[in-house]
Parts: sequence; structure tokens; C-alpha cells
Amino acid sequence: KPIVTLTEVNKTYHGLSAPTKALQNCSLKIMPSTFSCIIGKSGCGKSTLLNAIGGLIPVDSGSILVKDHELTKLDQRELSRFRREHIGFIFQFFNLLQEQTVMENLMLPFDLNGERVDQAFVNEVIQYLDLNKLVDKFPFELSGGEQQRVSIARAVIRKPDIILADEPTGNLDRENTKQVMNLLKECQAMYSQTIIMVTHDIDLAKRADALIYMEDGQVKRYETS
Ligand code: ADP
Ligand code: ADP
Repeated sequence: KPIVTLTEVNKTYHGLSAPTKALQNCSLKIMPSTFSCIIGKSGCGKSTLLNAIGGLIPVDSGSILVKDHELTKLDQRELSRFRREHIGFIFQFFNLLQEQTVMENLMLPFDLNGERVDQAFVNEVIQYLDLNKLVDKFPFELSGGEQQRVSIARAVIRKPDIILADEPTGNLDRENTKQVMNLLKECQAMYSQTIIMVTHDIDLAKRADALIYMEDGQVKRYETS
């Protein structure tokens, strides 16, 4: 049974100029504990699709079913709770708070939500992502690859079912790109997480379980390896 099912989703942005159709009758199924890559030309709707799956943006019509939650029927409060409970986000520009240490950044989701911290698991993730020497530093003291490791840790640390990664290697060199990809694959294996990643990099995408080719706001082709 799929963990994500999109059925005929439409999304038009009404910007300052002409409206832009970002998703056009977009349908897609993703199975649990798989690693999917979304690829396609710039502007074809990849980020919009990812943000729709994460409950970050409203869509105009269609159905978005994620873990038995019909996102199009949830209000803002319910969506916020859905994201907290099920989704971890990783971004191209890391999105770390610069004035807080690595450890404070990692604890932030717990602080915001007033949740109890599973310190043993936090330590395991820190160990695993090789962040021991970095926990007391500030993000600006870290390299790009290190910052992305921290943001991966921040995403997995609350054990989300689904990790959504938007061009997570877009700002990294080859070596760090390879490492980030390996870490995501290991998160998938160790914690049975479902990973959905947007990338420009076709060679990287080929290392995933499924390739989702987008064009003009639609999934044109779906390949599993
Ligand atoms: P991709 O991730 O494949 O580059 P996006 O999903 O970011 O594509 O964007 C799809 C289309 O929607 C593009 O034409 C883009 O310019 C437009 N778009 C994206 N976000 C907005 C927005 N907030 N307001 C207006 N247009 C947007
Ligand atoms: P809460 O409602 O519990 O304060 P949010 O729902 O705002 O938390 O955030 C949950 C997750 O969604 C966080 O990981 C955050 O990084 C991400 N997020 C929230 N809003 C946005 C946004 N506009 N763009 C990108 N990511 C966002």
C-alpha cells in the first residue's frame, strides 16, 4: 500500500504577472521505505510537488493522501501537526539558524513542540552522522557539507516517516554530494524512512529505487530500478 498517493492534483500560482500552472492533473504513488528521486527541467513543478506532499502549500484541486491523511481536507493547525509527526525537511540552503549552535539547531524542533527528547537516539544520530566535534560550533563555522550533515540530522532526529529533500546536494561538491546521498540511503535502510528527493543530477537519481520524471507539472514517466 502506497504511503503517498496524489490523484489529479492541480496547482496554479497567481503571481504578479500571468498565472503559472505548476501542477496539472499530477498523479503519483510512492511506496513506503523507498528512495524516490524527482527529476526534470527547472520550472517543471518539482518543488511544488514536494511541498504539496509535505503539506506546505495548498493546492487547487485533486487529492493528496499521505499515510491515510487527506491533506486537502486539513486546516492549518492540522497540517502543522501532520508535518511535525510525519515529515522531515532538508533544503538546498541548509536552513540552519546561524546564531544557534549545532546542538541547539538539532534540539529546536523539540523545543518548539515541547516534546520529550529521546537523548539516546539523538546521540546515536550525532555519532552516526559524525557530528561529535561540531555540536558546539555555529553553522557559519562549518563547511557546506558539514552544514548539510547537520540539517540531515535535524530532519531524521524526530524519526519522521518521510524525508523530503529539495536539491539537498545543490550547493555541494562531488565528494560531499556522494556522502549526503549515502547518508540518506542509510537513513532509509536503518530507520525504514521513505525518502523523496528533488535533484538535477541524473547520475545521482539513478542510485534511487524509483525515478519520477516530471514535465509541465505532470509525472511523465516512472521507473523503478
Ligand atoms: P521546479 O522545482 O521544477 O524548478 P517549481 O515547482 O519551483 O519548479 O515551479 C513551477 C512553476 O511555478 C515555475 O514556473 C515557477 O516559476 C512557478 N512558481 C513557483 N513558486 C511560485 C510562487 N510562489 N509564485 C509564483 N510562481 C511560482
Ligand atoms: P510548527 O507548526 O510545529 O511550528 P511547522 O509546521 O511550521 O512547525 O514546521 C514543520 C516543518 O516544516 C519544519 O521542519 C520546517 O522547517 C518546515 N517548514 C515550515 N514552513 C515552511 C516553509 N514555508 N517552507 C519550507 N519549510 C517549511
